[in-house]
Amino acid sequence: MITKPKGTYDILPDTSRNWAKIEEVIRHVCKLANYEEIRTPIFEQAKTFHRDEADSSDMVNKETYDFMDRGGREMTLRPEGTAGVCRAFVENKLYVNNGVTKLYYLGPMFRYERQQKGRYRQFSQFGLEAFGSDSPMLDVDVITTAIHLIEGLGLKDIRVRINTLGDKESRGRYREILVKYFRENLDSLCSDCHERLEKNPLRILDCKVDHDNPVLVNAPKISDYLNEPSKKHFATVLNELDKLNIKYVVDEKLVRGLDYYSNTVFEVEFNASDFGAQNVICAGGRYNDLVSDLGGPETHAVGLAFGIDRLLLALEHEGIEIVKPKSLHAFLITIGDKAFMEGFKIVNSLRKLGLMVDMDFNQRGLKAQFKEADKNNSHFTMILGEDELNNGVININDNVNNTKETVRLEDLGNYLVTSFAKKTCKSCKEGK
Ligand code: ATP
Ligand code: MG
Repeated sequence: MITKPKGTYDILPDTSRNWAKIEEVIRHVCKLANYEEIRTPIFEQAKTFHRDEADSSDMVNKETYDFMDRGGREMTLRPEGTAGVCRAFVENKLYVNNGVTKLYYLGPMFRYERQQKGRYRQFSQFGLEAFGSDSPMLDVDVITTAIHLIEGLGLKDIRVRINTLGDKESRGRYREILVKYFRENLDSLCSDCHERLEKNPLRILDCKVDHDNPVLVNAPKISDYLNEPSKKHFATVLNELDKLNIKYVVDEKLVRGLDYYSNTVFEVEFNASDFGAQNVICAGGRYNDLVSDLGGPETHAVGLAFGIDRLLLALEHEGIEIVKPKSLHAFLITIGDKAFMEGFKIVNSLRKLGLMVDMDFNQRGLKAQFKEADKNNSHFTMILGEDELNNGVININDNVNNTKETVRLEDLGNYLVTSFAKKTCKSCKEGK
């Protein structure tokens, strides 16, 4: 038997319905806040992610799926959405309209990671990217859209952690102080952090190996090195979140894995007990240099990415049902070849009227076909035999109201459409 690759999983019909629903909610929330969809390739030229600008995140260094195509070109399966969206923003000159461009994306990402619950090698992200303004209000626009989605899905136990990395100037100054400090304490750092020292010393603060290391705990704090504009930017973000009644905690250790962030960074955790270690469902921040790194004009931007797999695990953990089980408007049972052939035509004509209809394709016995109708949670079961066909009628069982009727074939469509239009049925009332 051929099996799925390690770190991947199949989304079967029972859960694919949830995926479709969550995507619907995402699209709705984006529409309300004026984010429009962008679809970029799933693979990009390797240099889109492996840039010279000293990107030292684990994701880019150790987790990418890199390959050479048959033409000898270096390619990378996208591990995240932002770099590809920025590449497309520059290549398609979306900056020419000179205003704010608000985009969202949805789709699979690939990282060669150790599989755990909530951590896969193929996973899906939903992301927002807002280009063209340095206003702290745009940071808040992105964060509130995330909260809107989370609330829309009914998730309660969440915590927003937020921090600022300061602008380029502040971060430059802080970086120097930090490198000096860590160099003096080199012996107490893990081997990964030794590597990080030159490339991305801020990441040392976020070292997963030894959180409680006093050298990390007592490290200089960015808040002591922020210049006035950076302080003001962060204060405005926090102030606006307060006004919107969005709860958050400022966490000075939050630096994010990727290098391109500046000023605001944040994460949203799902905090229910026994959910597991992979509880960050959303992460983001401001990145004011990435567009220019990719060859575009200097463009301020802010964005975020949700892990949809983790979002669904959180909903499941809370027992939040976002989709009702499937149901059909009608299911057709046929007796005999002639009814089977004619029945197929009827099913298709009903679908053209907008009804969800199916039939049994194996021409099994009556009992098996009734069972199939049941399994499909069908409101009506229609029964067609040769006698009915000869008399131009069809028998209909209303499984919700427990009634039976015989209807003329030429009236069937009208009969079903009207009965659903009246919205008398239970499933209609429930909005299925
Ligand atoms: P982590 O610290 O968990 O590795 P990250 O910082 O690498 O996360 P980001 O690059 O910020 O994650 O991606 C945004 C979101 O995508 C994460 O908050 C998470 O919800 C989700 N995500 C990231 N990697 C994976 C993965 N391998 N499997 C499932 N979801 C993931
Ligand atoms: Mg990661």
